[in-house]
Amino acid sequence: MIRILLIGPPGAGKGTQAALLAQHFGIPAISTGDIFRENVRNETPLGLEAKAFMDRGEYVPDSLTNALVRDRLNQEDAVAGFLLDGYPRTIDQVEELDDILEETDKKLDVVVQLTADSEELLRRLSGRAQEQGRSDDTPEVIKRRLDVYEEQTAPLIDIYASRSLVAKVNGLGEIGDVTNRIIEVLDARGLVS
Ligand code: AMP
Repeated sequence: MIRILLIGPPGAGKGTQAALLAQHFGIPAISTGDIFRENVRNETPLGLEAKAFMDRGEYVPDSLTNALVRDRLNQEDAVAGFLLDGYPRTIDQVEELDDILEETDKKLDVVVQLTADSEELLRRLSGRAQEQGRSDDTPEVIKRRLDVYEEQTAPLIDIYASRSLVAKVNGLGEIGDVTNRIIEVLDARGLVS
């Protein structure tokens, strides 16, 4: 079993690849964005609190996000392996994830960094806005989300690189080609059995 983080800017294709990889490896894809959206849809207390941040393109506070992930990772299906999509996104979240894993004697296997140039990101995010009508896909909020990623999340790549965990993958092109590229880099690290 494998423990993967997927990291990259909004629009890089993390959600799409997360679902395909999770299927390939038989592990759960845990997307904090999806979990928040589901809570917003169901108007849970967490959803009501998270929505205000999401609609502005800001991150949901670490205290809420960390509690959610801790709970999710302790569920039975995530014990042997998992893929985290969109978490951690802040240094505080990196520390929380380190703690959660340490407590149960587990280690991350790899951090897949999915890349795409900013023109392509904007093109994809505005296309998705039309298709899915996500409330955080308006032009201003898209810009804010890209800026917040650069400010708060891009620095995490250095942290994981210093642990030799980062595998960088070009996220441009056909969806299946990108999945194959990811599987290749995982294979090169001896992570595909
Ligand atoms: P995503 O679908 O991953 O782009 O997430 C959509 C929104 O959910 C983000 O813009 C944030 O408002 C919130 N969100 C998702 N994951 C996190 C996280 N790890 N930390 C804080 N906020 C998050």
